[in-house]
Amino acid sequence: MEKIDIKSLNITELEEKLSELNLPKFRAKQIYLWLRKGVESFDEMSNLPKNLRETLCNIFEIRGVKIKKRLESKVDDTVKYLYELYDGECIESVVMKYHHGYTVCISSQVGCRMGCSFCASGIDGLFRNLTASEMLAQVEMAGKDNSVRISNVVMMGMGEPLDNFENTVRFLKLVSDEQGLNIGLRHISVSTSGVVPKIYSLMETGFPVTLSISLHAPTNEIRDKIMKVNHAYPVEMLLKACRDYTENTRRRISFEYALISGVNDTDECADILAKKLRGMLCHLNLIPANPVKENSFSRPNDNKVHRFCELMKSKGINTTVRRTLGGDIDASCGQLRRKSREEGL
Ligand code: SAH
Ligand code: SF4
Repeated sequence: MEKIDIKSLNITELEEKLSELNLPKFRAKQIYLWLRKGVESFDEMSNLPKNLRETLCNIFEIRGVKIKKRLESKVDDTVKYLYELYDGECIESVVMKYHHGYTVCISSQVGCRMGCSFCASGIDGLFRNLTASEMLAQVEMAGKDNSVRISNVVMMGMGEPLDNFENTVRFLKLVSDEQGLNIGLRHISVSTSGVVPKIYSLMETGFPVTLSISLHAPTNEIRDKIMKVNHAYPVEMLLKACRDYTENTRRRISFEYALISGVNDTDECADILAKKLRGMLCHLNLIPANPVKENSFSRPNDNKVHRFCELMKSKGINTTVRRTLGGDIDASCGQLRRKSREEGL
């Protein structure tokens, strides 16, 4: 029988599970607190009787991540991890140092089924969703392995968090729990390629997270070519959802725009984009596209990136070019996992 993933449960669910199994329900609070402290085994739960620890160990498992590869950048403090999960699947995480503290970029799925043409994460499709505990373990390991307090989380690693909505919501509740990592929801970004119905679902949770939208193109003509999700939820529908989101939450949206040479980097693109974003409570993040071995996309040169940025600013759009971190360690998501699979590590 497959063991129950105990770390993904909230306190009420844990109480219910213990009752169901005829185990002492009053122990739930103690167990829950140990789990929030990040213990990796039941033996560490020192205030529980030994026989209970053994019983728990037979029924439940504490899902964690195992470091399979750790790459430290020589140019900045970025650290990239390849983690192995309980079933042998691998995911990626990146820890970045910013002036305001440490941020961890976590994966939400093994692979991705959205199939954006510029992205390495989706090339082989979706393998499986991550559980809340596996998302949490990435944040815990980032803090432990670097002996730092993680202050921010971005869900921008492998996978589409809104395609794994229930576990994402579960994770957001657990990671922000005051008794656990206590990372405020305002310090967490959820990035999506634009799964419109789930943007509304996220809005309805009332969580004050930052919503990042991977826009990458100003028109359906261009977006259709590089992002399959646009066939289901075209640009107008996506931007309407964004406007509804900002009106409802008063939270600024962050638009991500990967500049790909000859695809979406012309002055005309900048012009159309500015017209569509004008008046929105938003920020535009330009990312010179990371080259991916499996496709032929390349990034524009620095002058072109600068020009696009200045054009957007001159049209009144709050714009920055994202600082490239860990440029020497394959920090673009999905690449490390692919490499490792190919090498059969
Ligand atoms: N699935 C979610 C979150 C993970 S992807 C999403 O798409 O938003 C994190 C970010 O990296 C997204 O903005 C994605 O579009 C971007 N990205 C993926 N491949 C890239 C590449 N080769 N160059 C630049 N950005 C890329
Ligand atoms: Fe999936 Fe995001 Fe990559 Fe698109 S960009 S394939 S949604 S991980």
